[in-house]
Amino acid sequence: MNEPTFICTRCHSEFPVLERREFEGRDYCTRCHEAITTVCHVCGARIKHTRNHGTRKTPLCECCLHARSRAGVQDYYYQPRPIFYGRGPRYLGVELEIDCGGESDSSANEIMSVANAEKPIVRDNFDAVVALWRRGEITAAEAQRRLDMKPSTFYRKVRRS
Ligand SMILES: [Zn+2]
Ligand SMILES: [Zn+2]
Repeated sequence: MNEPTFICTRCHSEFPVLERREFEGRDYCTRCHEAITTVCHVCGARIKHTRNHGTRKTPLCECCLHARSRAGVQDYYYQPRPIFYGRGPRYLGVELEIDCGGESDSSANEIMSVANAEKPIVRDNFDAVVALWRRGEITAAEAQRRLDMKPSTFYRKVRRS
């Protein structure tokens, strides 16, 4: 009795047709199929290991990667790509986990835009105090005291104003 067989594209061995796994138009044995592919943990699509945008434990296909980068709410396994600023002062990030926060991407994006915004330093009396200082009526130290600003902040803001 002749069982139908096929040749695996990768290991070139012969296998019964029952073990045939097709991937991107090629035939593989089950073992080779497992070896070269993985399953996206979000959508379940089979992808090549070399096209895995996630981790070994939580594979991610390209579509889900793009969907994710637009999303505000991330799934539990999400790991942001770190941004390195080289040597120098450290910039620390904050991970925000919200229970029962709902799944509104727009709300999440709004929170992130606030959290990631450069914080403007606003003083209602800024223009008035700077005007006094420019006319020489008060010292820089006095201006900084009235504005509750450190000298570095004061001079930076004055230069920009
Ligand atoms: Zn094989
Ligand atoms: Zn996917």
